[in-house]
Order: sequence, then structure tokens, then C-alpha cells
Amino acid sequence: MNKTVLFFLIPIFFSQNITSQNRKIIDVHFHTRSAGDYGKIPPPNPITGKAPKAETNDMILNSNIALLKEYNVVKAICSGTLKRNADFISKDPSRFISSLEYPDHQNNSLPDTLAFKKLCEEHKISAFGELGLQYEGEVLSDKKYEPYLSICEKFGIPVAVHTGIAAPNTPYTCCPNFKIEAGKPLLLEPVLLKHPKLKVQLMHMGYPFLEETKALMVIFPQVYVDVSAVDWLVPKEEFYSYLKALITAGFEDRIMYGSDQMIWEDGISLSIKTVEEAPFLNDAQKDKIFYKNASKFFNIQ
Ligand SMILES: [Zn+2]
Repeated sequence: MNKTVLFFLIPIFFSQNITSQNRKIIDVHFHTRSAGDYGKIPPPNPITGKAPKAETNDMILNSNIALLKEYNVVKAICSGTLKRNADFISKDPSRFISSLEYPDHQNNSLPDTLAFKKLCEEHKISAFGELGLQYEGEVLSDKKYEPYLSICEKFGIPVAVHTGIAAPNTPYTCCPNFKIEAGKPLLLEPVLLKHPKLKVQLMHMGYPFLEETKALMVIFPQVYVDVSAVDWLVPKEEFYSYLKALITAGFEDRIMYGSDQMIWEDGISLSIKTVEEAPFLNDAQKDKIFYKNASKFFNIQ
């Protein structure tokens, strides 16, 4: 599937001055992209208008690592193919944690369940996602994913699911099977009922389905959210309003920072700056969102 996952294309502009608090950060939604994943000439960043500078696989690798170091992102959960994740891990082993993305940009099929179990047993993957099933109009409760979820539950492997929406025109461009309905957080309820020990990461914080996200988080304490993409691709006040609602509802211990930088390196700095500048978050809450919550969810020491 040659999908171009441009999450939201809303032309708003952020200031370029970055607030550096030197806070320790874990990025739970980082993509290990390859050259060509978004076409021969990748589109510019929809927010800044900047074209991605890195043109080769090595350039992508090096520019991402340089940015993560600059912003003190000490760990990144890599969502990508096993092969591309291995490139990142071999270059900077202590920074990257491998997570199996599905579907991916190379149209790889899922490994069979025996191979998948081996990947978990041998710690070749520490998370399962991003699962962009919504782009195929599919849901995680489909029975074909059931054996994979049982394995994840058994080995304590978190499952990271794309929820919410996507870029304007998604069904008319990359993904004719895309369904808004398939991104609703409550569709995860049957999975959580069947797998009470399964850790689930609601990618993009279920945005814009706030009520469903809150309901799921109240009933199922094993559900965490990441703020990725929403933290730099939607209007800032809209993001703040949604994030504040989750904080007010009492979930500050289960919200995790993510960039979802895709091919735009500057997505990392934009997203960090937006969370850092949230006027309603105190310092302790920022420490939780940027590091502590993810450290607990992914067992990072
Ligand atoms: Zn996503």
C-alpha cells in the first residue's frame, strides 16, 4: 500500500523559536522512514512549508538522530519495518526501541504468528504498532488480529493503534478503504474485554472523539494516549482544549508525548514546543507527559 499518511493539512503557522527546557523526553510515536516513502519528491511540511531536507536513507537517519539529541529525546519508540528500525538501532542502539508497524510503506504482510511470537520472545520488537488499520477500514477487534493480541498480552508487548481521523481527502487519495468510523476509540472495547492485561496506546489521543476517549480511559486503566500529530498539525488552541479536557478528567498519568514526525524533521521541534508551552500544564505534568508516563508504559528504566 502506497499510502501517504499526511495526518492533517491545516495551514496554520507556528513561531520558529524553540523553547529548550532540556527536559528528558521519550517520543512514543516516531517513524523510521525511508527515502521514497512519500513519493520521489515528498510534499513540504504542511505547517511550515519546508521541504524535507534529507534525500537519502542515510541523510534521514542522521538528521533525525541529530534532532533527537538536540531536544534531549533519549528514547524513541520506532514505528517502521523491522529492516528500517534495525538501521536506526544499529546507528544509536540505546536511543531506539523497535515497534512493528502495520500496514507499512513497503506493503509487507504481517509475519505469521510463529514468527511474530519469536520476535517478541527475542526482544526484536518491544511494541506492536503503529497499527494504521483505519486506513484499510479495518478494526483491531477483527478476528485475524486475535492471535497477535494474545501473544502481545502474554509477553507484555504494548499495542499502539492509530485512532481518530487523518488528512483531508484521505479516502480520495492514498486510501480508498479509509473510514472515519474505524477510528473510534470505543471500537477497542471488545479487545480490552478479551485481553485484560493488554497495554493499549491510543495514538493521536482518539482526537476528535473526546467522549469516547474519556470513557475508555475511565474504564480501562491499561489504556494510555499519545498526543502525536495533534500536537503540531491541528490549530494550537484546538489541541490545548482537547489535552486540557483529558488533564481535567484526571488522566495526567496516562498521557504520553509523541511527534509522529513522518518525513518532516521539524515535526519533532514543533510538537515539543507546543506541549512545552501549554499554559495550563505545570512542570510536574510536563515531566509526566514528556517522560515519566512513557517510561512506565514501556518499562523504560
Ligand atoms: Zn497515526
